[in-house]
Amino acid sequence: MAYELEKQVAIASVIGAIKLCTQIQNDCLVAAIEKPDFSPVTIADLGAQAIICQAIAADFPQDTVVGEEDAKLLRQPHMSEQLEQIASYVRVHIPETSAETVLEWIDRGNGQVGGRFWTLDPIDGTKGFLRGDQYAIALALIEDGEVKLGVMGCPALPLDLNQPQGERGVLFVAVRGQGTTQIALKSGVSQPILGARTANKHNFRSTESVESRHGNLPLQRAIAQAVGMTPEPLSIDSMAKYAVVARGEAALYLRLPWAEYPDYRENIWDHAAGAIVLEEAGGRVSDMYGKPLEFAANAKMLNNRGIIASSSDIYDAVLDALQEKV
Ligand code: AMP
Ligand code: MG
Repeated sequence: MAYELEKQVAIASVIGAIKLCTQIQNDCLVAAIEKPDFSPVTIADLGAQAIICQAIAADFPQDTVVGEEDAKLLRQPHMSEQLEQIASYVRVHIPETSAETVLEWIDRGNGQVGGRFWTLDPIDGTKGFLRGDQYAIALALIEDGEVKLGVMGCPALPLDLNQPQGERGVLFVAVRGQGTTQIALKSGVSQPILGARTANKHNFRSTESVESRHGNLPLQRAIAQAVGMTPEPLSIDSMAKYAVVARGEAALYLRLPWAEYPDYRENIWDHAAGAIVLEEAGGRVSDMYGKPLEFAANAKMLNNRGIIASSSDIYDAVLDALQEKV
């Protein structure tokens, strides 16, 4: 099967990163470090990026990685304690790792887009992670401008949203043309998911960010209503929103920019893995004008604005409703 080795390396490294994040959470060491853009990062984000970049470097030394994090902050003397903490957690997975090596692995994630490269969000939804809510570890392989493989780990997501007290922790794996599979992290049980072909009365609702500044929620809700959705949107942090549409637990995920921030552009690492997980589960993804998402032009999707991700059958109605309002 195409991309088999890439898939195995991606799955193993995302599982390693999930273990690291879970351990840091269990040890109550989740704390926000402020980045220069004032967004939060934690030692888990940085450790997860180190583990995944190391795995890609070991098996695919020619491949570049466009990751969200870098080690600039961590190289500063006042961060030495956090750097040591990260190194100690990485050593659980990769013995004898030095602090210097951790910095190098994190910075392997500062590659450029190209003909073939990976994009990584080591923790998407860091604010959700800090709150103990949803977050996702998202890794995608892009070749010739197209996402070919996506692996998305959602350690806090129930296997079934209708059973919120049930087992949690899911991995979504999608390969272009081969479908999307959900793997339960604890039991290892895997099943194909194809829940995004048609909306139905059980999933006829939208999903949106918990963080109200991360999208134009009033406009997103107005569009959902315009296509006939009446239930409250489902609030979920991170790219797990793509997963719930892929599973058929919601039918629409809109991410629309605020009129006050016309220059906001989405990052490729926030969408590549989620987009293929949804498309291979039968859904549709584009920007708010119906343009395909451009994953290989830049780390920011400069030529796209906003996101429509939906079950296939309602995509055209959503696009039409949106064009009437913007
Ligand atoms: P969510 O989990 O839906 O709240 O989205 C988390 C993502 O929101 C992060 O990966 C950020 O890159 C992104 N983000 C941060 N600020 C904004 C903003 N003003 N508009 C849209 N997305 C944002
Ligand atoms: Mg993110």
